[in-house]
Amino acid sequence: MQDPFKNAQSQLTKVAKLINLDSAKLEKLLLPDRFVEVSFRVRMDDGSYQTFVGYRSQHNNVLGPYKGGLRFSTYVTPEEVKALSMWMTWKTAVVNLPFGGGKGGVKVDTKKLSEAELERLSRAFIRAIADIIGPDKDVPAPDMYTNPTVMGWMVDEYSKIVGRPSPAVITGKKIEDGGSQGRVEATGLGGFYILEELATKFKLEKDTTTIAVQGFGNVGYYFAYFASKAGFKVVAISDSKGAIYNPNGIDVEHVLEVKQTAGSVTNMSDVDVISNEELLKLDVDVLVPAAIENVIAETNADKIKAKYIIELANGPITPEADSILHAKNRIVVPDILANSGGVTVSYFEWYQNKHNEKWTKEEVFKKLEDTIKPAFKEVYSKAEELNSDLRMGAYALAVSRVTEKM
Ligand code: GLU
Repeated sequence: MQDPFKNAQSQLTKVAKLINLDSAKLEKLLLPDRFVEVSFRVRMDDGSYQTFVGYRSQHNNVLGPYKGGLRFSTYVTPEEVKALSMWMTWKTAVVNLPFGGGKGGVKVDTKKLSEAELERLSRAFIRAIADIIGPDKDVPAPDMYTNPTVMGWMVDEYSKIVGRPSPAVITGKKIEDGGSQGRVEATGLGGFYILEELATKFKLEKDTTTIAVQGFGNVGYYFAYFASKAGFKVVAISDSKGAIYNPNGIDVEHVLEVKQTAGSVTNMSDVDVISNEELLKLDVDVLVPAAIENVIAETNADKIKAKYIIELANGPITPEADSILHAKNRIVVPDILANSGGVTVSYFEWYQNKHNEKWTKEEVFKKLEDTIKPAFKEVYSKAEELNSDLRMGAYALAVSRVTEKM
């Protein structure tokens, strides 16, 4: 497996040359401001105790409080968390949010925990990092294998520690815990708005534009849902157990039912069951990696047939693969723009918490559209101006915004 932090550093180094970035600023931005590793004990249901390790990386806060998710996964490593925190710095900057970049996680397989154990783990992790987070300091949110319920426990624990209700310390909460309408749909919906921009720019007809989505978590599901509802043709979907393909189109809502009842999308009928790797190489118009890092690498990049790739996962394409795709004239909408819908609505949630406001879902969706679509246009023009791919266009905008403020 490639080191995602090295990938993030190499992307930054590449853009630094393109925009003639001062080398002292580059040197600082290659490293997080602060990286914290904690260990803590959790009582298991049988009365025994287990020790877990967690991390929080705070990359940069010149534009505002550190911001970014917390993931619970056995794959969490310091390098991954550092990379993800750097990507958050660029992501918030590219859509002009008053936030910096952070990310954290706990090394744990949540499938092996009961609900009560998961709650104790979530609370224990927040106690371990309580000193370095806060509504104006560092604002966590959901990421892989964490969700609004987990965020609720964490806010509650933090509020007890500081002795007052503190909803703005964490975003991605349930509505009843102070969450925002539309936060659950936000990342997938933001990706859909990007798809609409691509369709307008490149004159793609909805009913003949075929789409393959890798990953059927919250992000992949909502993207597929909004795309098919609008009339695009979603022909392939996958989860960690495998992929399904039907060239005539797939009923996305039905796939969700099948996944919820039978455990995997591969239990769906009237489809071909293929592998995740085969899904990536399908002859479709739009490919949407919405699962994990490094799925498109030097080894398979030249076999990708899709003309357009929308990165809804963080870091799904390695820098080597990026060069191969660019040489083949593929249009890659980079993660820091394509999946920025989540953190954008996190900002709306934080703002509502701070000002004691409650916006409707329609307002949230509209404000998201009015944030991400102009950002796409700006990134596109920047890439044209620099004669680069969209990733470098997005990086150039984001990195300049941060370095001007440094
Ligand atoms: N975890 C999400 C991301 O990678 C959302 C972060 C947030 O809402 O702060 O962008």
